[in-house]
Amino acid sequence: MTLDRRNFIKLLGGASSLALAACAGTGGLSGPTGGRRVVVVGGGYGGTIAAKYIRMMDSSIEVVLIERNDHFVSCPFSNLYIGGLMKDLSPLTIKYDKLAANHGVKVIQAEVTGVDAATKVVKTSTGDVTYDRLVLSPGIEFRTEEIKGYDMATTPEIMPHAWKAGPQTVLLRKQLEAMKAGGNVVISIPLAPFRCPPGPYERASMIAMYLKQHKPGSKVIILDANPDIVSKKGLFLKGWKKHYDGLIDYRAAKKVTEIDTRGMAVLVEGIEEVKGAVINVIPPQKAGHIAHVAGVVGTDKKWCPVNPMTFESTLHKNIHVIGDSCVAGAMPKSGYSANSEAKACATNIVNAMNGKELIDFSGINTCYSFLSAKEAVEVTGVYKVDKGAIIAVPGSVGVSPDLSETEAIYAESWLKNILTEMST
Ligand SMILES: Cc1cc2nc3c(=O)[nH]c(=O)nc-3n(C[C@H](O)[C@H](O)[C@H](O)COP(=O)(O)OP(=O)(O)OC[C@H]3O[C@@H](n4cnc5c(N)ncnc54)[C@H](O)[C@@H]3O)c2cc1C
Repeated sequence: MTLDRRNFIKLLGGASSLALAACAGTGGLSGPTGGRRVVVVGGGYGGTIAAKYIRMMDSSIEVVLIERNDHFVSCPFSNLYIGGLMKDLSPLTIKYDKLAANHGVKVIQAEVTGVDAATKVVKTSTGDVTYDRLVLSPGIEFRTEEIKGYDMATTPEIMPHAWKAGPQTVLLRKQLEAMKAGGNVVISIPLAPFRCPPGPYERASMIAMYLKQHKPGSKVIILDANPDIVSKKGLFLKGWKKHYDGLIDYRAAKKVTEIDTRGMAVLVEGIEEVKGAVINVIPPQKAGHIAHVAGVVGTDKKWCPVNPMTFESTLHKNIHVIGDSCVAGAMPKSGYSANSEAKACATNIVNAMNGKELIDFSGINTCYSFLSAKEAVEVTGVYKVDKGAIIAVPGSVGVSPDLSETEAIYAESWLKNILTEMST
């Protein structure tokens, strides 16, 4: 769907939306605002939930969800597709029509290109939209400048990151299928923090599973920039020993700083060359591009500092940042975290707009990882605000005692529930 400016205005409710634009409120989160429109940027794990929950809590607030694509593909479970456990990405794909039909969310397919925090205007490829409150949930962007030789326009076509689900995910699987038996698959993991701490290790497991079945003599070489496995270490090591002994060559503290796409090689610290038949370079990450444009990224030039109760930017009033882009203290950058943050953010936006008291943040995260076709493990935590920062509730964080088929069933149920919640 491409919208020209006329259709765009029509979708926003024509003249009434312009009237709304003119009466934008000026209040902070501590008090009520006069305006009634929230614009949400990004229709992924955080944005869909923020948009839906604001409408569910107060249908008098107009919510405009702006997303560049007409559908969303989930990263959670995309490693299973890469490992050959799914025919296609359709079980991971959602549309936005029901958010519009069931909740009255105005969904606009457009690229958000700018934010003017002073005049409260979002600039998009199809026109400007004013807001009273803006929620940014744009996911991640890559710090490709930290890898010599990496060209965003061409490198991912040769060495896919597959860290945003969709065509990249399909490409990585195709490369594995086309690879000659005996070839090695190299996975490079950036320094934390990055989207989905256990994700690269789950990916290694799924690729090893595929190689074991289809590519005799092949193995996975993991070049991890981190000093050790970042998440669920004991369980991954146990699963690798049980299922893929000798198939996964894990190398800690090996930061890839340079790539050679012609020679199909990566260089660790610019010196040690590692060649691969398939190379999955996961670059270091930062907040989504639009967060940088909006001026809500902190002095680290990577992530967005926020008030941990409301997820309002500490740099610009009335702009909230949720999901991977924000600094959420002890919460990992995950889809489930984004979901929790979206609900807290939505609740406090509605409260603030209605002059009600803000509620304390209470968040939850569970991340499942598959080790084989039938076994998964999880890490779970509950989070709260303490002394101005999000911390894990003492004693709440834990991992599965062992690899488990039951966890795999829970994981499938989690995916079904969360994608349904995002799309209906
Ligand atoms: C391989 C892998 C496995 C994972 N597994 C799990 C898991 O098992 N469990 C879990 O909880 N998490 C998992 N994650 C992490 C999860 O995918 C992310 O944490 C989550 O998607 C973050 O949500 P978000 O809303 O911040 O960003 P996203 O879900 O990425 O949504 C961002 C959206 O914003 C849109 N957008 C961005 N910029 C613009 C713009 N300028 N204009 C218009 N639209 C824009 C994008 O198109 C996108 O749709 C996994 C990630 C990976 C890579």
